[in-house]
Amino acid sequence: MARFPRFSFSVAALAAGLWLGTAAHAAGPMVKTQAPGFHRLMLGAFEVTALSDGTVGLPVDKLLTGIRPASVVLALQREFLKTPLDTSVNGYLVNTGDKLVLIDAGAAGLFGPTLGNLVANLKAAGYQPEQVDEVYITHMHPDHVGGLMAGDQRAFPNAVVRADQRDADFWLSAANLDKAPADAKGFFQGAMASLNPYVAAGKFKPFDGDTELLPGIKAVATHGHTAGHSIYLVESQGQKLALWGDLMHVAAVQFPRPGVTIQFDTDSKAAALQRAKAYADAARQGYWVAGAHLSFPGIGHLRKERAGGYAWVPLNYSGLK
Ligand SMILES: [Zn+2]
Repeated sequence: MARFPRFSFSVAALAAGLWLGTAAHAAGPMVKTQAPGFHRLMLGAFEVTALSDGTVGLPVDKLLTGIRPASVVLALQREFLKTPLDTSVNGYLVNTGDKLVLIDAGAAGLFGPTLGNLVANLKAAGYQPEQVDEVYITHMHPDHVGGLMAGDQRAFPNAVVRADQRDADFWLSAANLDKAPADAKGFFQGAMASLNPYVAAGKFKPFDGDTELLPGIKAVATHGHTAGHSIYLVESQGQKLALWGDLMHVAAVQFPRPGVTIQFDTDSKAAALQRAKAYADAARQGYWVAGAHLSFPGIGHLRKERAGGYAWVPLNYSGLK
């Protein structure tokens, strides 16, 4: 007998909720913003936070090389995508317990108005830019280094910035800027504007190829996309994450066809070789992978498929705690 009154009550509450819901829907304007752009993953004793800098629409059918544009469009269609492709720009914050390390800094204002959200998302994730101890740069293209600066100030005033010496030698060279064609000069100017204030403050420490940077974090030379492109391997308690930077750009095309390259490569052949090597290693060992341009949060695993291709397996969402 006791169940009947409760049942009546819940029907009444449901009816009231529906009525109120209808009224609120009619009055509420659309918001049209995305959820806060951070995503947390525990990696052994380390905490990894993916940070979104935003997305940018890229004409990938025109940018990819070693493939016909029509084949790019077909590969995108298979994944229900089209060009221009909404392309994520991601950075990753690693809290080792001792140090707070940011890997790639986003674009700030250097790559169009839809990017530049990394610091806002770092704050939304519960951190402050002043807390960042080190920033590791995969390479000095504008969508990876622009966020080092906030206007004319260093965005991470207490951080030491690290990158491969070869990228510094190439992108921070006034002689190379002079030699560069007009449409490439912006890349050099962007790198200089982003890095030189850290150089002047004694806060830039380049490294030479494979280097252990902190216990549990090492740089691995994957030169090709740029002269000093590096990936970072993060490892704690037997769990491993490879932060790939721009080892690849377009998942729908370059996982099934690792040989496809992109116009932004300094040395496409070397870039493709590094990609093939990294794919094979990640699939064989089964560790976590994250990519600067994989759909946010850009973290997952690789599975080897037949015919020399790979499949991307995005992470399963976890509420943690
Ligand atoms: Zn990039």
